[in-house]
Amino acid sequence: MKRPVFAANWKMHHGPTDAREFMRAFLAHYPRQDDRTVLFLPPALALHVVGELTRERSDIVVGVQNIYWEDKGAFTGEISAPIARDAGARVVLVGHSERRHIFGETDEQTGLKCAAAARAGLTPMLCVGEQLEEREQGDTESVVLRQLRAGIAGLQPAQVAGMLFAYEPVWAIGTGRNATPADASAVHAAIRGALRVVVGDKAAKVPILYGGSVNRGNAAALVRAPEVDGVLVGGASLDAGGWAAIARA
Ligand code: PEP
Repeated sequence: MKRPVFAANWKMHHGPTDAREFMRAFLAHYPRQDDRTVLFLPPALALHVVGELTRERSDIVVGVQNIYWEDKGAFTGEISAPIARDAGARVVLVGHSERRHIFGETDEQTGLKCAAAARAGLTPMLCVGEQLEEREQGDTESVVLRQLRAGIAGLQPAQVAGMLFAYEPVWAIGTGRNATPADASAVHAAIRGALRVVVGDKAAKVPILYGGSVNRGNAAALVRAPEVDGVLVGGASLDAGGWAAIARA
């Protein structure tokens, strides 16, 4: 996937009707750019709309926001990695802080989900990030690296080398308070260092995105920060014109 990666996490916004309207407006504002990738993570029920409208655009990739770790079975309401793949997803978000903190997703479960994604040929984007108290106690790196190691525990090094990562400090998500480019770079360097232990020199090519209150005003500085290979954006990805401006940063 071409770096930088601009990933839009729509969370629980934009069903099929809104997604169609959004994509028509976005595509009008955003002609093909071959020096970067735009990744859309719509609600699963709108995936087909985004996929259909971007079929001719190899610079745009679609994915889902979550999967269950079993491949199939009696798990009412869940979506498996093979089903997401069959529906056109290429990427799946794993361990987003809302999954961890609202739905109680554990480190171990993120590992099961990353392994399920890799088995199905879906690329996991593992999200890691510390809470405010953890940062204030100086525990940022230990928390982030604990989450990282748990998330990749069930994968072979070659599979880890093909993953995406997102550093999303919990205190910055949806709060309007972003990490500075220097803060992000420092944590990204620690993540890359931990990846180097697992995949060697290939770690240099693994995309590590920053997420947390990215907007039109701060996106360019964050994307250009050392070790930052793109951004994962929630709120500011919901407006087509604004998102197109961020993706051109
Ligand atoms: C997110 O949902 O991953 C996110 C970073 O949200 P926001 O951009 O709204 O902070």
